[in-house]
Amino acid sequence: MTIENGSEKYEFGTKAIHSGAPVDGVTGAVISPISLSTTFAQSAPAQPLGQYEYSRSANPNRDNFETAVATLERAKHAIALGSGSAATALVIQSLPVGSHIVSGGDVYGGTHRYFTKVANTHGVDVTFVGDLVSDLEAKIQENTKLVWLETPSNPTLKVTDISRVAEILKNHESKTGNKILFAVDNTFLSPYISNPLVHGADIVVHSVTKYINGHSDVVMGVLAVTSDELHEKFRFLQNALGSVPSPFDSWLAHRGLKTLHLRVRQAATSAQQIAEFLQQHPGVVSVNYPGLKSHANHEAVLKQHRDGLGGGMISFRIKGGASAASKFTSTTKLFTLAESLGGIESLIEVPAVMTHSGIPREEREASGIYDDLIRLSVGIEDTNDLIEDISNALKTIN
Ligand SMILES: *Cc1c(COP(=O)(O)O)cnc(C)c1O
Repeated sequence: MTIENGSEKYEFGTKAIHSGAPVDGVTGAVISPISLSTTFAQSAPAQPLGQYEYSRSANPNRDNFETAVATLERAKHAIALGSGSAATALVIQSLPVGSHIVSGGDVYGGTHRYFTKVANTHGVDVTFVGDLVSDLEAKIQENTKLVWLETPSNPTLKVTDISRVAEILKNHESKTGNKILFAVDNTFLSPYISNPLVHGADIVVHSVTKYINGHSDVVMGVLAVTSDELHEKFRFLQNALGSVPSPFDSWLAHRGLKTLHLRVRQAATSAQQIAEFLQQHPGVVSVNYPGLKSHANHEAVLKQHRDGLGGGMISFRIKGGASAASKFTSTTKLFTLAESLGGIESLIEVPAVMTHSGIPREEREASGIYDDLIRLSVGIEDTNDLIEDISNALKTIN
C-alpha cells in the first residue's frame, strides 16, 4: 500500500511508514531497492521506458523520500537536496538580484554565514531582527521578497508565533499588492511536532541531517511547499545547480523517517524531564526549554507544537562561567561532546566556542549566547540514565 499525498485519513505514524513506500512491481520487494543507475533506457528518442531519464533530474529513491516528507509536512511537494545548507542556498538563489530578506536573529550558524557572506555577492541584502512579531513590519522595504524564521531559535530556543508573522505578511500584501514569501526552518522540531505550512508559511526548510534521518549518518536537506509555481521554480533551479542527494542517502533518510514519531516523542519526553531537573538544580543559572511552563513563549508552543511538546533540544547556563561549561561538557559520559543534533545519541556542546564561535561576542551575548551556555541534544537513551549522567557531571563542577 502507499498513502496518497494529501490524505488526512491516517495519523502521523501510519503516514510515516506507508507514504512513498510502494511494493516493488517487479520483485514484490516490500522495501524499495536502492536505484543506483544514473541513466534510464528509452524505447525511441525522447521516449523513456518509465518515468525516469537521468538521475540528477529525478531518481526513484529520492522521489519516494520526497513523497513521504511532503505528506508529513502537510505539503503538496518536497524537494530533497544534498544538505540543509543547499536547501537554504536554493531558496536564496531563487530571489531576483536586488532582493531584501528580513530574518529572525539567532539563526543556524551556516545560514548566518550564507546571509552575510554569500547572499550579498549576488546582490541580496539581509536585515536581522530580534523578534519578527514585533519588529518585522518596520523593516519591510519595497524590495523585501522573503522572511526567514527559525523556531525554536538556536541555541536559545525562543519560539516565534508563526501565524502572527504570516498575518503581518498577509496584511502587507493586501495593502501594497506585494507578496513576500515566508520560509520557516523546521529542523529543530521536525514535522512530527510542527507543520509551519499549516500556520501560514510558504516554504519549510529542513536539515535532514538532524531529526528526519535521525541516526547521524547522512548529510541531506529538504524543502516542502504547497505552491505548484514555487515547486517548479525550485525544481528547475535544483536541476540547474545539481544540488542533489545520492540514491543511497535518500534511501537511508527515508528509512530514518519511518521512525521519526517514535524517536522525537521519546527525545521530547526525556528532554522535558531533564529540563525540569536542571531548573531546580542549584548549579544551574537558567534553562531554555520550550516545554517548560515558565518559557517566555509557552503560549505559542501550545498553539503550534503537537501536544505542547518542547522538542529534544535544551540549553542552559551553568554556574562557574566558561571553565565550568568546559569541565561539565568534557565530563558527561552518555552525552558526547560534539556539534550537530537530532540523532538517536545524546550530544552536548558549548555554542560560544563551537557552533556559534563565528558570531562576534557582543552580538552573541545580545541574543543570550554567553560563555557559560551549554546546549544539549537529547537522544533516545533511557531517561533515568541521561539524568544521572548530567547529575554526576554537575557534581564534579563544585
Ligand atoms: C544543521 C542545520 C542546518 C544546515 O544543515 P546541513 O545539513 O548541515 O547543511 C540548517 N538549519 C538548522 C537549524 C540546522 O540545525
